[in-house]
Amino acid sequence: MTHEAGMTHRAETNIMELTKDQLVAWLKDHDIEAYRAEQIMKWIYFRQADDFEIMTDIKKEIRQLLSLNFRIDRLEKKQIEISEDGSKKYLFKLSDGQCIESVLIPEKNYYTLCISSQVGCAQGCKFCLTARGGFVRNLTKGEILAQVRDIMNDLDDPEKLKNIVMMGMGEPLANYKNVIGAIDTITDTRCGLGFSNNKVTLSTAGLVPRLSVLNQDATVNLAISLNATDNKTRDMLMPINKKYPLEILLDACRKYRLPPRQSIMFEYILLKNINDSPDDANRLAKLLHSIKAKINLIPFNEYEGSKFKSPEEEVINNFREILRKNNYIVIIRRSKGRDISAACGQLRVRQDSPLKKS
Ligand code: SAH
Repeated sequence: MTHEAGMTHRAETNIMELTKDQLVAWLKDHDIEAYRAEQIMKWIYFRQADDFEIMTDIKKEIRQLLSLNFRIDRLEKKQIEISEDGSKKYLFKLSDGQCIESVLIPEKNYYTLCISSQVGCAQGCKFCLTARGGFVRNLTKGEILAQVRDIMNDLDDPEKLKNIVMMGMGEPLANYKNVIGAIDTITDTRCGLGFSNNKVTLSTAGLVPRLSVLNQDATVNLAISLNATDNKTRDMLMPINKKYPLEILLDACRKYRLPPRQSIMFEYILLKNINDSPDDANRLAKLLHSIKAKINLIPFNEYEGSKFKSPEEEVINNFREILRKNNYIVIIRRSKGRDISAACGQLRVRQDSPLKKS
């Protein structure tokens, strides 16, 4: 193959789709030493390389072979919105035209990045805007990773990105293989994106069978979208509860092995007159008493056409106080960037008018 052919040729595979083992195997098939895999990955993930030509510590013939076979993809930034509080919301357009969102959230001295795992979602939670559009498809490993890599590339100081939370669009445990593959590279400190395990959080609606095997494949922080304290209410809000009710979910949580010194984050959306009573707060305190837990209260982020409402300030504070009296660490998560529709799925829906009025 001539060099000219390499210039015009569009390789079929995004190299970020490969795990390290797959890359090593491919190299082996082409009689190239295994250690080259780490070199290549360092260029891609540490040094943000966009093509193989700049990988000067790799022999020219190998670089050419890599260019013929692989691309290094970035996501197309379709829209970026910055909110008053500094949250930055990225709407990415994927190669098939589908859109996903990632939100960069400023904390005191660092950033947290919330990433998506699917286009749409099949869980059907009644309060969630993403659920309304239904499930479209799983994100690939490369698409999950690219959200982190591309946004790091945008930062003046990439070291300031400290936490990755899989709390964006989709249910990460329903896209198990690709999510695990992405976590593997995100937490690879030798030649991946270099985040330690306790800086990565996976949030789930409660797919218990997958949750029960997750520890075999990854040790990450866990967030559980609990949202109710009795099965009747949770059945109504989150259909997954009919399959895996509260007792079974909490049992799986008890068995989950967290990274050292971490606790499970229980997310609890506060919905006016549905799950916001003092009885609910007391029941929640009881439900979690044998689990190493902290609680994240999320006043419902209202959107056009939603039938739920957020409780009054006093009700929210009262709920928090009951939990605090029971010795829980409680954080109230005001939906960051309300003015840029930073709640799950809102920017994507705005792009997509048929969903607007549903
Ligand atoms: N499927 C995963 C991750 C995506 S949802 C999960 O269920 O955890 C991420 C979080 O956003 C969940 O805790 C969910 O309960 C919350 N959420 C969804 N829609 C919301 C809204 N309109 N207002 C506030 N929180 C919302």
